[in-house]
Amino acid sequence: MKRSHALFCTFLLAFSLAITGCRPTGQQNPTLPETGSPADAVTTSVTNAESAGYTADSTGQIIDEFPAESVSAFSHSKPDRPAADDSAQNGSPSANPSAASTAYQVSADIISDGTSVVPPLPDRDPNSIIDLTTAQYTYEKMTADLNWFAASYPQYVSLEAAKTTADGRLIHVVYFGNRNAARQIFLCAATHGREYMTTQLVMKQLEYYCANYNTGSYNSIPYNRIFENTCFVLVPMVNPDGVTISQLGEAGLNRQDLRENLHSIYSSDINGGFTTLDYETWLTRWKANGVGVDLNRNYSPGWTLINDRPVPSSSLYKGSSPGSEAEAAALMSVIDSLSNPLLAVSYHSYGNLIYWQYGQAEPLWTANSNLATHISNLTGYPTAGYSNEAGFSNWCVIERGIPSVTVETGGVPCPLPLDQFSDLWARNQHLWAMLATVY
Ligand SMILES: [Zn+2]
Repeated sequence: MKRSHALFCTFLLAFSLAITGCRPTGQQNPTLPETGSPADAVTTSVTNAESAGYTADSTGQIIDEFPAESVSAFSHSKPDRPAADDSAQNGSPSANPSAASTAYQVSADIISDGTSVVPPLPDRDPNSIIDLTTAQYTYEKMTADLNWFAASYPQYVSLEAAKTTADGRLIHVVYFGNRNAARQIFLCAATHGREYMTTQLVMKQLEYYCANYNTGSYNSIPYNRIFENTCFVLVPMVNPDGVTISQLGEAGLNRQDLRENLHSIYSSDINGGFTTLDYETWLTRWKANGVGVDLNRNYSPGWTLINDRPVPSSSLYKGSSPGSEAEAAALMSVIDSLSNPLLAVSYHSYGNLIYWQYGQAEPLWTANSNLATHISNLTGYPTAGYSNEAGFSNWCVIERGIPSVTVETGGVPCPLPLDQFSDLWARNQHLWAMLATVY
């Protein structure tokens, strides 16, 4: 398998942690909720909860979801697949330097006296940067927090931007640890709009490991040694347009034509029988990107095999071609820029499950099974069976030979309410350290 080697601020003061037990402690072995299942509970019959495991919300209203996907389409064998060459369709893997410079330039009002080019750091509690008083952790909050981390911890946090979304948002890429380390671990979150608590989780992980970089340890191995050897490459919000739609509705979009397009998509979903929700509620359940493409259906493996929605929709429309969307192209570019990506984890919601089967052959079958088991042992999430086609993890495994799993967080339908966060955190706090020491 070919593995490519190519490749201030608004300050939102969040002084209080609303979630008991979320304050970083540097301790190991968080107490897990009772919902965890044994790590070896591998089953191929689990329904994809995120996509099909629920049909009605707490009010009994039908959620705009399609019936069960082909979770058992095929199992431990690689099916016939079309020739996949998405790299030819996705252009340069390089980040957009002009966009990056726009995003990360220091605000003029910070350098007011002209005596220094180094902005003073805002007085923020390094253990409470991420706003956990609301589930509405927005793109703007994340961007401000990322800038704070990069300015506060320049030795081990750096930022780039990989492509711009249809609605004009930069897709932020974070490098944590030794950027020149010989190996990298990739994590991403919020591929689907309404699953934005996964962004909060990854950002809280970043906060925790930054704040405890020189004092914490995992299995007696100091964090600073762990992250000196392994660089973590993060895309904490893959789909900022979709997150914005889910959180803020159409008013959150910058482009008038995209706001109008939402109404067209809504009519299409209504007419297609894909939703019975009212418009505003339908928006809160939005999964796609800003133009109605499901980013976890926009990758090449199995792309031709799926046809859940024929036109743009709030979910499940695969796009005009593999990698047609900037967000998907961005992730592929980032992966292909890494010298030695060990593994990739894609956080989704919900279901409290780990998907790891993508029709891969050995040795990737065992490698992916092992990765899923390691994460299951830590988090208590059981491993599940086959996931859908044309997802990011599918691409990592099938097209690049990189072990990759999809971790479904949360126990109730999305958007996850704030009270879910403590469970996400308890299960996933030590994921980075575990992965970097096991691999
Ligand atoms: Zn998802």
